[in-house]
Formats: sequence, C-alpha cells, structure tokens
Amino acid sequence: MRPGVGAPLRACAECPGPEYSGAPDCARCRGLVDAILEEEWAAFLAREGFAPEDGAEVAALVVEEPDRYDWRVVDAAMDRLVCPECGGPLSRGPAGCGPCDLANGFRYAAIEVDRPGVPPGNEHAVRVNVSVVRRPDGISVREVLARRLMLPLLLQGQLATTGQAQADKAKMNRMGIAEIEALFPRLLASPTDWVP
Ligand SMILES: [Zn+2]
Ligand SMILES: [Zn+2]
Repeated sequence: MRPGVGAPLRACAECPGPEYSGAPDCARCRGLVDAILEEEWAAFLAREGFAPEDGAEVAALVVEEPDRYDWRVVDAAMDRLVCPECGGPLSRGPAGCGPCDLANGFRYAAIEVDRPGVPPGNEHAVRVNVSVVRRPDGISVREVLARRLMLPLLLQGQLATTGQAQADKAKMNRMGIAEIEALFPRLLASPTDWVP
C-alpha cells in the first residue's frame, strides 16, 4: 500500500535505506514501486468494469490516449505492452530504443492529481522519480541516486522548494558516489537533516 501523506519513513528489510529508495536494485523496493502502479491499475479495471484478463486489450487503448488517464494507469498499461523493437515492456527498454523513447515521452501527457495536503506538483515529482527508477538507462548514476533518495520523501507528501532542491543538488554534485550512497541510512536516521 502506497504511503499516505505524512506517513513516517520505514526501513527496508533488504537494503540500507527507507522503503522505496532501493529500486531498481533492491527487489523489495522494486516491488513496492511497481505496486504504486499495479494498485491503481487494478482499481481502474474494477471501476471501469473490466476483468483482469482484459488487461492487454485495455492497455493498448489507454496508451493511445495517455492524456485521459492517471499516470499510474498509463505506466501500468505500458508495462503490459511489448516493445516491437527491443522486445521488453514498452517504454522501459534501453535509451536509444525508438518506440521506448517515444512512449517514455508520451507518458508525461498523463493526468497527475496531487493528494490533499501536499504542495502543488508533488504528484508530478513522484511520477518523475518513479519513472526514472523504473527506467534508469541513459540517466547519470548521480541523478538516479538523488531521485531514489527523494522518492520516499515525495511519497510522504514533501516537495522541496526550487531553491532547496538546487542547494541539495549542488551539495550532491560535490559528493562522491560512495558519499551519496552513505546518505541512504542517514535519511532513515535523521529524515529532516540528511544532506550534510
Ligand atoms: Zn529496499
Ligand atoms: Zn524498446
């Protein structure tokens, strides 16, 4: 179940950081991130009166008109379609795969609805970070790490101001990869003061 607004961070039993921060390498965190989409997909099918076995057919319709659906429904639909070029789930192939790159761009037309009580744009930030950890190919190691660190905080309903986000980014740009990796347990230990 996706964490609600203000829910405390919880340690992942399988990686050094909070739940959700270990994807894609931590299988448990990866499953939690996928569940954000799968929960909404199942609810969508039920609401619209489709049976789970209609999934592939419905997925093709959803991807035709991404601007009509919630982003989680669109991303879950793409997972159910096979890319004609790389043979993987559509939009998640290697950077440079034409149909995947195209689908990855189109996905941002989907609807993003902020939950009550969060700063405007929180849901967009959640969806961008989820997209990046589910398709990290072509994105720098540093950026993927930063997005992984932010994801549990965004799910709690936080959203850094532009100034704060830039300051954190500048700090991380001066840190080595090992130093950034050390922030994962630190985020759990002191969620309000984890960027040194
Ligand atoms: Zn984990
Ligand atoms: Zn592809």
